Order: sequence, then structure tokens, then C-alpha cells
Amino acid sequence: MRIDVVSIFPDYLKVLDLSLIGRAAGHGTLDLHVHDLRDHAHDRHRTVDDTPLGGGAGMVMKPDVWGEALDDVLAVDAPTAGRQVLIVPTPSGEVFTQRTAEDLADADALVFACGRYEGIDARVPEHYASRGIEVRELSIGDYVLNGGEVAAIVMIEAIARLLPGVLGNPESLVEESHGAAGLLEYPVHTRPTRWRGLEVDPVLLSGDHARIARTRRDQAIARTVRRRPDMAASLDPTRLDREDRATLASLGWAVPTGAAHPVPVRIRTATTCDAEALADLAARTFPDACEQVIAPESIARHIATNLVPDLFRAWAEDDRVDLIVAELLAPQPVQEAPGGAEPEGTPTGPDLVGYAAVLREEPDAAGEPPTGIDPRPACVRARHGQVVGELSKVYVDSTMRGSGLTPALMSAVTRQATDHGTSLLWLGTHVTNKRAQKAYKRAGFRQAGTRTYNVGGQDAHDVVMIRRTGEGQ
Ligand code: SAM
Repeated sequence: MRIDVVSIFPDYLKVLDLSLIGRAAGHGTLDLHVHDLRDHAHDRHRTVDDTPLGGGAGMVMKPDVWGEALDDVLAVDAPTAGRQVLIVPTPSGEVFTQRTAEDLADADALVFACGRYEGIDARVPEHYASRGIEVRELSIGDYVLNGGEVAAIVMIEAIARLLPGVLGNPESLVEESHGAAGLLEYPVHTRPTRWRGLEVDPVLLSGDHARIARTRRDQAIARTVRRRPDMAASLDPTRLDREDRATLASLGWAVPTGAAHPVPVRIRTATTCDAEALADLAARTFPDACEQVIAPESIARHIATNLVPDLFRAWAEDDRVDLIVAELLAPQPVQEAPGGAEPEGTPTGPDLVGYAAVLREEPDAAGEPPTGIDPRPACVRARHGQVVGELSKVYVDSTMRGSGLTPALMSAVTRQATDHGTSLLWLGTHVTNKRAQKAYKRAGFRQAGTRTYNVGGQDAHDVVMIRRTGEGQ
């Protein structure tokens, strides 16, 4: 690749002789030429600037001087084979990103026009664009430098390291920040493994490459969410596997079914104010669990009798119930009513898209167990000395299937139940609901037996699954 840089401070560009970029120039991968703009100024003082037309502070770089300099460097009238790009660094340009670097690494020749003072007369890029030259006005960030040299050096380094043969190990490019995955890189470490009291994650020393890769991926996701929520919001769901989605959801970003990007969610403990929205959500989601095998009337009866706001209000107030909800935070588009009147029926409550509950039954506790608690199946009752919690519900809206919210809710409710003393979790799920059974297995549950369960007057056959809270995820 040929690179030409035009500047009033050619010595500024000497740093490009150093390091990998200098070596690439030495090997011929890069053909670097630096030109002094003042060679094209013809007065005694070699003037390159003048006062701004229309008044104002500072000086503007003259188009005639720049025109002569660039005519010399650009193949204006005799197009060369290949792609040549004129790059004008300016804080008012489009932002230079890794994508821009990748695109420009494909060019055959780049010419950088480094401005100073208030910048270059705006007709210069306009003129070359009109003559068929590909012109890019690029900013390296939202701040103002004194001149375009540093910006040109930044762009040249970012572009040149993508050229074949510049980096010793091209693998270095694969997992970097701002790569195709749209994530920041995970934190990196080297020996010594213990330094000033700081240890590295033991997984890194385990030799288990799959676990290392998973841990790093989770760290990359966590770092991106924490430091660059704008990047988290633009992640491409097609590049996120099931575990990525679970990690992302537990950090507050879920991917709705078919959505182009994740949306912000909050996973939190429910309050009594959620009771109405929870009952609505329960009515929407309960049929998913058993619709193939239980008659619609029985499902409707179960919902109307059991999954009512009073139940959720009682749960939110009961210390023995860990009730976690997932609330969508994305603003919902408001339909404008004709005549500008307030739209009717605008939802005002929390936009709940998932919930999970653990109902704890203390051994030998006096008094009533929590409302809605199911009788423990025999296979669970047989375990003595445990504080047993029924994982009563983990439901997400159908729009949130595969969003990562189910495992994220499961982790959140399990963590809270464990903190509150639950040592054994159990659940019942319909024998035919293989999707749920697979999800619970992934979360560390195993089958312990079966039970018969009454849904709106109809018997349903459930698989009973258990998990010690210290196990699994
Ligand atoms: N008056 C200009 C404005 O407000 O947009 C700023 C001119 S700046 C002081 C002088 C030169 O520094 C620019 O012509 C450009 O070459 C360079 N420069 C300054 N900030 C830059 C940035 N963020 N990205 C790229 N080039 C920059």
C-alpha cells in the first residue's frame, strides 16, 4: 500500500519510522512518502493560510496551495490501477472506526491532507470529489487537536496493522476489541500468576480450553456492557450463542425473539406494585407450559383461580418467597390518537416479560406455608435436614424465548434463595414439556421422581427435578 502524507510539519511523521509500521515500510509492505505543504507556497514567507472569509477567529489554509500539493500527489487526471483515497482529517468528519480501518486497508493508495489552524478551505475536498477522487473527511474522536498529523498517524497505524505481513501473528487480530463480534476484548494477564497480592482467575491456569474460552467470552460481554452500553445495544444477535445471551441477560440486555439488537431489561426483586402486571404475565405464559396436554377450560380455570394479583401480592410480602421479575426498560412507541388527544389505555405499570419464584418451606416450621405452595412430592420429602424451596415458576413471555432471560432469571432467583437459606430446590414440570426439562437440566437440575398435579380440575403428570443450591450455575 502506498501512503502519502502532506503536512506543514513533515518531521511530525517521523514516528512512523518506528516499531511495526516502520518495519513494514522497510519490507516494502508500506510505501510511505511525506511531503512538505510549504514547497507549494510561492511567496517569500511560504504562506499557507489566510484570514477567514466572512470574519472570525484564526486562520484558514489556502485552497490554491493545497490544490497544487494534492495535484502532485493524487492521480487526478491519470487514474492509477487500484483504489486511491484522499483522507482529510477533521473533527467535523465522520468518525473513524475499526470498520473504516478495515475498509481503507483494502485501498491501494491513501493520501492524507493534514490541516492546521481552523482547517483547510472547504472547497478542497469538494473539488477532488467532483473530479472523481474518493474523498473521506474523518475524525478520530470527539475532541479537537491542533493539527491533522496525530490523526493521520492514528489512522495509518490502525490501517497498516491490518495489512498482511505487518503483525507477526495475524491471530492477534481475531478476538480484539471492536472486531466482528462487536465486543471489547476480555482482560488479559501474563506471569507471574500472583503479583502484589493480585491473583489471576484459576480457570486461566486450568488448561481447559473450552472453559477458558467461555470465561473470556463472558468477561468480554461484561466489560462491553459496563464500559460501552452503546456497543451492547448494537450487538448482532446472530453472533450470540445461548450462553452469550444468558450472560448478557443477567447483565441487563436481552434479545427479544427476532429482534435486530438487544434491549435493556432489569432483573429485580418484585414488589406489591408488580402484582397486577405479574398476574397478566402469568396468564399469558402459563398456557405455554401445558397447552398441548391440558384442556383450555382447565387452563383458564387455573389461571382465574390461582394466578391472580392477590397471589403475587402475598408472595411479594412473604419473606419465604423469593420473587424475581424481568422488566423491559425500552420505551414503548406511543400510538398518537386522532386529534392529538391522550391515547387511551396506555400501559402505566411495569412492562414485565419474565418472572421466577422460589417458595421456601422451613423444616418443622409452625404456621401456614407460603400461599400457593404445592405439597412436596415424596421424592423431595425424603430428604431430611434440608431447607427446601419449590422453584414454582420460571416463565418468560413468548416474545422473549431464547433471549437469555430464562437462565438469567433462574440464576437470580437461585442466588437469592440460597442467600435466604434454601439448600435444596425442587420443581415439577409437565412430562411432555421437554423444552423446559432441557432448560432445567442445563441449570443443574436432575430428575428425582414424578408427581400428579391438579390444573383447574384436571390431573397433570409432572416430572420432579431437584438441585442442591450449591451445584450447577
Ligand atoms: N476549526 C476546526 C473545527 O472546529 O472543526 C478545528 C480545526 S483543528 C484546530 C486543526 C486541524 O486539526 C484540523 O484541520 C484537522 O486536520 C486536525 N484535527 C483536529 N481534531 C481532529 C480530530 N478529532 N480528528 C481528526 N483531525 C483533527
